[in-house]
Amino acid sequence: MTQISDNNSTLLDLAVRDLQALLTAPKVSLEPPEALADVDGYRQLYATLLEVRTAILMFASGNFDYQVTEKGFLPGSIKSLQASLRHLTWQTKRIASGDFTQRVEFMGEFSESFNSMVILLDQSMRKLELIAHTDPLTGSNNRGYFMERLGTELDRTKRYGSIFCIVMLDLDHFKSVNDKLGHAAGDEALRSLCRVINSSGLRSADFFGRIGGEEFAIVLPETKIKGGIEVAERVRINMENTAVIHENNEFFITASLGVSEYRAGDTRESLLNRADQAMYRAKETGRNRVCVES
Ligand code: GH3
Ligand code: MG
Ligand code: MG
Repeated sequence: MTQISDNNSTLLDLAVRDLQALLTAPKVSLEPPEALADVDGYRQLYATLLEVRTAILMFASGNFDYQVTEKGFLPGSIKSLQASLRHLTWQTKRIASGDFTQRVEFMGEFSESFNSMVILLDQSMRKLELIAHTDPLTGSNNRGYFMERLGTELDRTKRYGSIFCIVMLDLDHFKSVNDKLGHAAGDEALRSLCRVINSSGLRSADFFGRIGGEEFAIVLPETKIKGGIEVAERVRINMENTAVIHENNEFFITASLGVSEYRAGDTRESLLNRADQAMYRAKETGRNRVCVES
């Protein structure tokens, strides 16, 4: 076994140049020079530095899969960096698939900016979702989102063999409100109706949406027809007794309501149709009343 000593400076020069090449040269040999190969510990040192160099080159080109097998402080640190970068890659994939709970902790200023970006993305997505689901005039669910949620409720009811009710609601003589008091007063009546529905004691699982100009529908999960009629009647009475206030004037407006209950084989359309027919019967028989499907 060769030993590097003071009187063997040629070998030392060779080792310095060889190690320098490992750090700086674009290409290096996979083995140390023959003259150094037998120097005590040199082969191991060369192998370790070569692997660190290869791993860093791989990382620099975006490949984090390289397996670091050498042991020790430097290879260990590289492995730890590799694990963090792989975790970051995984987190980014999660974020891309909509998981905005991911936060990066290990990269100082980068982490701060990255996390701010994810929070902003989350908020923007929520805002967009809300806008896409909401009727801008009343703030209630719009027709598209209401129908989506109704579909979900229908599937759930079919799967678990449970029950639910729909209440269809249409304002009475609404056209004459617009004609006599103006469109803005009509708009205020629509907002007032939504406040009335919201304050009529709906449960947290209940939901409603604006499905047409002045037509709304309320879904009442786990509710039989009797419960549906009670809710509809409550909304009707509250509406009848609530003044719509517009430009220092107040006026009253009533609603006609129809109730239907889920039946086996129902689609969204068949269920809404029966509630609609009941609602039209309420119109025909005098308005400001609740009718039940036949
Ligand atoms: P009925 O008692 O038979 O329901 O009579 P109606 O006058 O309420 O019914 P009709 O279907 O004849 O009129 C509905 C009106 O709703 C017509 C339309 O101008 C009005 N409308 C629809 N959307 C809006 C809206 O966003 N704002 C306002 N102000 N009016 C609307
Ligand atoms: Mg109508
Ligand atoms: Mg109407």
